[in-house]
Amino acid sequence: MMKRYIKYIRRKWANISFSRNIDIQLREPIVSFTFDDAPISAFVNGGRILKKYSVSGTFYISLSLMGGEDPSTRFTEQHLKDSIAAHNEIGCHTYGHTELYKVPFLDGKADIEKNQEEIKKIIPNLTLHNFSYPFGSQTQPIKRFIGERFKSARGIEEGINNEHADVLNLKTVKLYEKRHPLDYIFQKIREVKQNNGWLIFYTHDVQDDPTEWGCTPTYFEAVVQKCAEEKIKVLTVNNALNQIENGET
Ligand SMILES: [Zn+2]
Repeated sequence: MMKRYIKYIRRKWANISFSRNIDIQLREPIVSFTFDDAPISAFVNGGRILKKYSVSGTFYISLSLMGGEDPSTRFTEQHLKDSIAAHNEIGCHTYGHTELYKVPFLDGKADIEKNQEEIKKIIPNLTLHNFSYPFGSQTQPIKRFIGERFKSARGIEEGINNEHADVLNLKTVKLYEKRHPLDYIFQKIREVKQNNGWLIFYTHDVQDDPTEWGCTPTYFEAVVQKCAEEKIKVLTVNNALNQIENGET
């Protein structure tokens, strides 16, 4: 119990003590689809569905997971290259999927830098502009470092980003099929239409018989289709930030 309690305090401390707040007041809402880690099924099924609707997403990768022991679950170099060719964004997680509040600052920093260096070995001209915290875990020094190194960071706190959004701890809504029925997700889409904010979805695997952190292709497509029906602009995290910063929306 005590450990959980301390974790809560540290996260809250990070959030209140260092943040980069912006007001996201858009003329029309934005939705982003993001994937963490990411399993092959995110690239293959998630990517296929996004392409079918002529939109793209953001894949926050941990490169220690590439070509992992179970070839049916881990992405390969080719998945990265195909995904970029399909106009998706590759974002940064930590290299070892390190939970950042559990390690000393310098170890966490080194793990993030290793992910950035390793991607250069595979795709030399690729820069990872945006980050997501594994497990949503963060500390004040890590958050400050992330602020120097990246344009944004996505956490796991539930919500839509609008007024006083923290670009270094962007809120999200989980596409975890076993947790959130589609009605709940559609309600969030109605909300973002009302408040003209930025709704960032996130999931992991997109496969039949998904894990508790993922969803089926049918569920994922229903969400993408709903956005298309509602004529909501779907952008990668980086493109959304560019539009927000340039006041284009
Ligand atoms: Zn992760």
